[in-house]
Amino acid sequence: MTAVKKVAIAGAGVAGLAAAIQLAKAGVEVDVFESKPELSALGSGITLQGNALRVFDALGAWDDIREAGYAFVGLNLRAPGPDAPIVAQLPDVKSGGPDYPSTMGMPRPELARILLEHAQKAGAEVRFGSQITGLDARADDAVEVFVNDESAGEYDLLIGADGLNSTVRELMGIDIKPESTGMGIWRTFVSRPDDVKNSELYYGGPVYIAGYTPTGEDSMYAFLVEKAQDRFGVSDEEAARIMLDESRAYGGPWNSIRADLEAGAHANYTWFTKHLVEGAWNRGRAVIIGDAAHSCPPTIAQGAAQGLEDAFVLTELLTQRDAVDQQLWDDFHGRRLPRAKAVVEASVQLGQWQIDGNRDADTGGLIYGIAQHMAQPA
Ligand SMILES: Cc1cc2nc3c(=O)[nH]c(=O)nc-3n(C[C@H](O)[C@H](O)[C@H](O)COP(=O)(O)OP(=O)(O)OC[C@H]3O[C@@H](n4cnc5c(N)ncnc54)[C@H](O)[C@@H]3O)c2cc1C
Repeated sequence: MTAVKKVAIAGAGVAGLAAAIQLAKAGVEVDVFESKPELSALGSGITLQGNALRVFDALGAWDDIREAGYAFVGLNLRAPGPDAPIVAQLPDVKSGGPDYPSTMGMPRPELARILLEHAQKAGAEVRFGSQITGLDARADDAVEVFVNDESAGEYDLLIGADGLNSTVRELMGIDIKPESTGMGIWRTFVSRPDDVKNSELYYGGPVYIAGYTPTGEDSMYAFLVEKAQDRFGVSDEEAARIMLDESRAYGGPWNSIRADLEAGAHANYTWFTKHLVEGAWNRGRAVIIGDAAHSCPPTIAQGAAQGLEDAFVLTELLTQRDAVDQQLWDDFHGRRLPRAKAVVEASVQLGQWQIDGNRDADTGGLIYGIAQHMAQPA
């Protein structure tokens, strides 16, 4: 017995596909509507903490994720300078429990491919080029969903996993929107020098944070976090030049990153955002999860992990209860809101300390504390 029989999901990102996998495995009819024409084969890397890996295992995707990613232990803090000295090595916290590595890096397109394959194998229908444009949630026990401006029929539930600028959130009448935290990030996907074996962050120097994370035997992504500014639309050459200039203060593995940038590695730019829907995430038979409900700077790399946990907890409740009632929503919010709020607040605080130039802040302590919090089951 499940609380729902037919569910529509907006968005084929990590949160939407995780929800699709769990529901389809439980025998629920699932339609995932994704506005993009196909999954992107391009993209940077992502850092996945143990609590995200624990959810992949629950989805049945852990073996594939483990094979496609690069597991590692610990986080080093380095200082600027030609030798890039290591100034701290943070203690390792296995936030997913003892059965999983503390952290893993992987190319984003690989993660998207694996989750899509598992959703389809479980029986979910994933429709690309299908934008959710409307919903009618007037009935108590159903929601009518509109895709590309036409009715796609009635569902027991619509899950809005449609990201930062969620249409479903707006259609539900929730007027909270992501706002800039004042930081922008340059990212590039490059080759991994042999001496990069885990994530390393550099505080100090011309940018707020510089760093990199290995994503495979031959690959890693590197990033520079600067003051948010209008960099959108700069040419590929200009983007690479900015990363080259801003990274010159950092030695060590940055020499190899610069060589790749000079050889044509692509650099892309985006701003950090923050928002949290502190009230209910549902309105009748529509609910938001993932970046639709919360976003934060990736200063502790927990955004996708939180979206995965949202999907895991929601689908656990939907498949173990026999009714979508207020108790289900209260339990969902009780388990998800405090945890997402802790992550958003800590992530924003870590960024703000850099913006304020606060060199005495206990950066390592805050990162360690959140990892310990995340080690508790979602
Ligand atoms: C620079 C940067 C670095 C980050 N690094 C990390 C990291 O290392 N680790 C980590 O855990 N998190 C990281 N994050 C956060 C992480 O990327 C996000 O939290 C996560 O991808 C959100 O997943 P989602 O499924 O909620 O949304 P998304 O991945 O945004 O997916 C939403 C999907 O919905 C689709 N869509 C949008 N509107 C509609 C519509 N109307 N109808 C149908 N489909 C629609 C979109 O096309 C998209 O495919 C980072 C974020 C940023 C900005």
